[in-house]
Amino acid sequence: MKKLEIKDLHVSVTSEEQGQQITKEILTGVNLTIKTGEIHAIMGPNGTGKSTLSQTIMGNSAYQVTQGDILLDGESILAWPVDQRARQGLFLAMQYPAEIQGVTNAEFLRTAINARRPNDQPMSVRDFIQELDKNLQLLDMNESMAERYLNEGFSGGEKKRNEILQLLMIKPSFALLDEIDSGLDIDALQVVAKGVNSMRGDNFGSLIITHYQRLLNYIVPDFVHVMMGGKIIQSGDAQLAKRLEQEGYAGLRDELGLNI
Ligand code: ADP
Ligand code: MG
Ligand code: MG
Repeated sequence: MKKLEIKDLHVSVTSEEQGQQITKEILTGVNLTIKTGEIHAIMGPNGTGKSTLSQTIMGNSAYQVTQGDILLDGESILAWPVDQRARQGLFLAMQYPAEIQGVTNAEFLRTAINARRPNDQPMSVRDFIQELDKNLQLLDMNESMAERYLNEGFSGGEKKRNEILQLLMIKPSFALLDEIDSGLDIDALQVVAKGVNSMRGDNFGSLIITHYQRLLNYIVPDFVHVMMGGKIIQSGDAQLAKRLEQEGYAGLRDELGLNI
């Protein structure tokens, strides 16, 4: 069992507004523990810090940790660069995947897989192709997708499927899925859910960030957390997501007497 712990995490971003450096605290004390074998969902209104949390876990240097810690199996990862976090089993499927010119999807995947293998033993081409074909089929993706440049000219839905293809190929210990459902029609949503569900098991944990309950009908989480004002204000099981769908975030905010 592996464990990812987020302890009292405070995160700020600095941006330039009208020539002035402005620092804003976005995360105001997040506590969360995810173990392999568990699927967690984080829900919350727009602008509350969900993407900030995933970017900070992955090590995006735009996000400054001012207090608290992030631990992987008890060891602080705050000083680790992004590639080390990836090699140690963390994976982020981004809300807005980047396009990379001149690198095909297949090349990207092989590099990413091999970088994470112990003893510099690259995966054989044959095994790679077998695995790739299997996963393309599972995700209802055309074989030609493998030879296209990464995300270049992909539709929104293709980009999201491609993030899941990366997940299935790379097989991380922990996957952070940031709004993997946004902009998907119901068929694509089901395909994405099928891909994530196929990863479920003792060696895989996930944090699914979503704005809507809909995805969670297909990937049923073990735990649901609600984030508002940069912290988790309530946790529960899958029922909590259903309640939120009915009552909205405002209902919960009022019930808890929060002024955020
Ligand atoms: P969510 O994913 O919950 O919609 P975000 O984490 O994207 O929220 O954003 C939370 C807040 O932090 C917003 O006010 C957003 O404008 C701000 N923010 C996020 N990233 C940056 C950044 N790189 N620079 C400046 N502000 C940012
Ligand atoms: Mg958002
Ligand atoms: Mg976001």
